[in-house]
Amino acid sequence: MRSGPGAQVGRGDIAIAGIPWDAHSSFLRGAAAGPAHIRDALLSPSTNLAAEGGADLALDPRIVDAGDLEVPGDDSGLETVRAIERGMTTLLAAGASVVALGGDHAVSYPVVRAHAALHGPLSIVHLDAHPDLYDHFEGDRFSHACPFARILEDGLARHLIQVGVRTMNAPQRAQAERFGVEVIPMREWGADLVLAFDGPVYLSLDLDVLDPAFAPGVSHHEPGGCSTRDVIRVVQSLRGRLVGADIVELNPLRDIQGVTARVAAKFLKEIVARLLE
Ligand code: MN
Ligand code: MN
Repeated sequence: MRSGPGAQVGRGDIAIAGIPWDAHSSFLRGAAAGPAHIRDALLSPSTNLAAEGGADLALDPRIVDAGDLEVPGDDSGLETVRAIERGMTTLLAAGASVVALGGDHAVSYPVVRAHAALHGPLSIVHLDAHPDLYDHFEGDRFSHACPFARILEDGLARHLIQVGVRTMNAPQRAQAERFGVEVIPMREWGADLVLAFDGPVYLSLDLDVLDPAFAPGVSHHEPGGCSTRDVIRVVQSLRGRLVGADIVELNPLRDIQGVTARVAAKFLKEIVARLLE
């Protein structure tokens, strides 16, 4: 793994890119500090950089910490969305695969836009307690409650499957039906779930899909969620060509002893290992 100023991103690399943006969180701020805490947890001397399948991220020169993207922080959100998309496009144009670290879930719209521009419409696996399908939330179309409405409107997904949802209400159910979203709600998520796709796959991982017992460091605690192992199993068993991913909604202000940051770093290792295959 390479990092620090001047770490160049090139063809075949796996770039880790932070997006410190939480201005469109509907309930609590704090997720903008997520990337720094995930990096600290990843590099903590309490553990090593070995993924479970044997890949050692510490030894692989294809892995690059690309630092954080510039986030202008305008009020409307549009300028920031465009800046994130530009930053992502630069990394992808260099030939890298990217794992984006939020920030809240609003970051996924511009990140997916950049990926779809390169790969065409994507199969998207979205792990979340929430569908994030509102047309707007309290008037905000760039709210972290809305990214998948924007992604679907723009035709960026050939298939969106949402796993772990347990807050589906009427307006979002209408959106899911309108856009043909496949939903595996939390109560139907079995241990034997294996997701298989043709074509490029993008993984969007909202940490609040986990039960708050496993991941207290998120803005929206939604009990009755999955375990850390359930998510790892989905990542490791996914069949198809994974081309990119994000890990979002770590809110360090809500975390306890950094346990959620450690969970996020664990997921990062396993996702990077899949991208190295
Ligand atoms: Mn979300
Ligand atoms: Mn969520």
